[in-house]
Amino acid sequence: MDGPGSRHSTDLFIAEQVRTDRLQQLFRQSVSAVFGSFLAAVMLCWLCWQRVDQSVACAWLALLGGASLLRISMFLRYFRSPECERTPQRWERQYWLTLSLSAAIWGGGALALMPPADLVAQALVMLFAVGMSVSAVSCYSAYRNMTLVSISLVLLPSTLWLLFQHSTMQVGMAFAVLVFASFVASATHSLSIALETAFRLSREMAQAHSISTRAAHTDELTGLKNRRAFFEHAQQLYSECQRNQVNLCAVMLDMDHFKRINDTYGHQVGDQVLRQMGLVISASFRDTDVHGRLGGEEFAVLLPDTSIEVAVKIAEQLIEAIAGLMTDPVHGITASLGVASTATGDNDLHSLMHSADQALYRAKALGRNQVVVAP
Ligand code: GH3
Ligand code: MG
Ligand code: MG
Repeated sequence: MDGPGSRHSTDLFIAEQVRTDRLQQLFRQSVSAVFGSFLAAVMLCWLCWQRVDQSVACAWLALLGGASLLRISMFLRYFRSPECERTPQRWERQYWLTLSLSAAIWGGGALALMPPADLVAQALVMLFAVGMSVSAVSCYSAYRNMTLVSISLVLLPSTLWLLFQHSTMQVGMAFAVLVFASFVASATHSLSIALETAFRLSREMAQAHSISTRAAHTDELTGLKNRRAFFEHAQQLYSECQRNQVNLCAVMLDMDHFKRINDTYGHQVGDQVLRQMGLVISASFRDTDVHGRLGGEEFAVLLPDTSIEVAVKIAEQLIEAIAGLMTDPVHGITASLGVASTATGDNDLHSLMHSADQALYRAKALGRNQVVVAP
C-alpha cells in the first residue's frame, strides 16, 4: 500500500535523481567552457597586446592556464568514473571550487589588465567579459547559482571599477553592463526552472512506467508472475533451451479441493492460503526457473537444464512443503502436480504445458496429493 511515508521516500528518491541529472547536464554542457574561457583570454591579450601591461597579461594567462588544467583534470576524472560514482555529493563541491577559482581569476585579471586611460581597451575588456557571461548562461544553466556566481566574478570587478571612474562614458558602459547582467540573471531563472521541471517529469514518467509494467506482470495476491508474464518468460526460456539443446521440464500444480476451503472458512482464508503458496513457490526454486500463478489455485513452474527424475523429486519436495504449511484454521492442505519434459518429444511450449496438464489431471483422478509424470 502507498502510504504518506512511501510517497515521501519516492519524492526524495526522484529529487536525488533530478540532482544527478542536473550534474550530468552540467558536465556535458560545460566542457567547451573550459577551453572557451582560456581562448577568450588569449584573444583579448592578443588584441590589446600593445595597450596593456604585458607582464600582467602573461601572469593572467599563466594563472588561467593553471585553473583550466585543474578543471580539465576534473572533467577527465568525471568522464572516466563509473556511472554509479557520478553523484552530486562527490562532484558538486569540486565543480564549484574550480569554477569559482577560474571565474575569479578571469574577472580579477580583466580588472588588472584594464589600462586606466585607454577607453578602447576598456571597451574591449568589457566586451569579452560580457561574452563570457553569455556563454556562462548556456554552460551552467542547470545550476542557476553557478551561472550567477560565475557571471558576477567575471563581470563585477571591472564593472564596479568603471562605475567609479569620472568619465560619463565609463559610467555609462558600467550601467549598460549591469542592465545587461540583470536581464541575464532573470533569463537564467526561467531556464533553470524549465530544465529542472523537464528532469523531474522525465524521472517521474520513467518511475510510473516501471511501476505499471511491474503491476501488469505481477499477480497481486501472491506476488508471483501472472499468467501473461509467466508465458512471456516461459516462451523465452523454452527458446533458450531449444537453442542450447538442454532439457526443460514443466510442472503444473493445482490445489486439491480448494473450493471446500473457501466454502468452509471463507474466501479471505482461501486468499491467505494462496498467499502462503506464493511464498512457498518463490522460496522453492532457482533464479533460473520460471514460475507463476496461471489463475485461481493453479500454478506452473519451468525447470531448465533439469532431468525428469530431478523434476519429479522437486515436485515431491513441493508437496511436502505444502503439507507443512501453517495456515490455521485450515489443515491438511494438499496439491496435485503433473510433470512433463521436452525430452519426451513435445516440440513447443504449449504442447509441453498441455502434457504437464494432462499428467496433473491424472494425478487428480488417481486420488490427488501426488505427482504424476507425463508418458
Ligand atoms: P480439485 O481438487 O478438483 O482441483 O478441486 P478444487 O475445488 O480445487 O477445484 P475447482 O476448480 O472446482 O475450484 C477452484 C476454486 O478456487 C474455486 C474458486 O472459488 C477458488 N478460487 C479461485 N481463485 C481464487 C482466489 O483468488 N481466492 C480464493 N480464495 N479462491 C479462489
Ligand atoms: Mg483448478
Ligand atoms: Mg483445485
